[in-house]
Amino acid sequence: MSGSWRRWAETELSAIRQARRWRAPRDLDARGPEGVLEDGRRVVSFASNDYLGLTHHPAVIDAALDAVRKWGTGAGSARLIVGSRTIHSELERSITEWKGTEATALFPTGFMANLGVLSTFGRPGVRILSDELNHASIVDGCRLARADVAVYRHGDLDHVASHLDGAEEAIVATDTVFSMDGDLAPLDGLADLCARHDALLVLDEAHAVLGPEPHLEGVDHLRVGTLSKTLGSLGGFVTGPRSLVELVVNRARSYIFTTAPAPADAGAALAALRVLMAPEGHRLVQRLRSLVERIAPGHPSPIIPIVLGSEERALAAADSLLERGLLVPAIRPPTVPEGSSRLRVSLSAAHTDEHIDRLGDAVAALGIHARAPA
Ligand code: PMP
Repeated sequence: MSGSWRRWAETELSAIRQARRWRAPRDLDARGPEGVLEDGRRVVSFASNDYLGLTHHPAVIDAALDAVRKWGTGAGSARLIVGSRTIHSELERSITEWKGTEATALFPTGFMANLGVLSTFGRPGVRILSDELNHASIVDGCRLARADVAVYRHGDLDHVASHLDGAEEAIVATDTVFSMDGDLAPLDGLADLCARHDALLVLDEAHAVLGPEPHLEGVDHLRVGTLSKTLGSLGGFVTGPRSLVELVVNRARSYIFTTAPAPADAGAALAALRVLMAPEGHRLVQRLRSLVERIAPGHPSPIIPIVLGSEERALAAADSLLERGLLVPAIRPPTVPEGSSRLRVSLSAAHTDEHIDRLGDAVAALGIHARAPA
């Protein structure tokens, strides 16, 4: 009897609707933080990870256009077949220099980089320790690895130590800046534990535009990053000691069996990296830091959670802000734990002073605070 899959999907969808968790993409016609929603409303977005505004930097746009003209719109095949262009290798060398490592491998997304790294090193007999608030791509990388996975309490070094005791071989995987809380992992403590237990430390630095800069002397480590946030493009990478990166290139299925990043994306990321490493990049980072100070003094990252508890409160607050022309997403379970629904404010150096004043005034008018309640 046909149609049973559609009936099943409709039952699932109606459960999602009933739980008020229905989601669909909402188009924002924008280049930068200001744009127009489908219903014609003009808004300022605080929902993007374009932390330095490099998606619309003239030099970055020109580099993407130049790459398209030179190499066309697509790479045509995987890196290890004939999809590798000089722009990919040049970008890898520049990332290696930026991070002060030995070698880098590009992936089409940061998500795929985490899948590739964890499935390469997480084999039977290895224990992977993963922070409970790690990004979904680390969670899925752990699932893909044929390893024993232990989830430790958020940032809890004692819990990490207890899981390391008795593990033959171990990997510790963590976001350095957590994507829904904007707080930092205890990197020095984790590096120390990994050094003592000869564990591999895997750091996901996707949101680390304002740091932290890890100290990794004497620790086997890999650093995963994305081209899609600070660098305003699309793609991901892993960087670290040459032998570890070469093993990723030879074993990671999400590197081997997928088409190389589009030349335009690689070209844009390379130009963005040049901006970042120049005095202009330093000024953009300083500007972003000063905007964070205005909304949440002392907060270490541009991701600022306003934890409100119930889903209803978070949705109502997002609606009120939208009425004032401010697009701030409500984040709810399953993305965050039950009872910790929140607004997630994401700041960018591309926000103007006026955008920030409007956000500050609107948040104050709602009587809510830009830090998690204790
Ligand atoms: N890691 C973290 C911590 C992230 O927040 C994200 C993206 N939201 C990713 C990895 C995936 O990066 P990409 O968007 O490049 O796939």
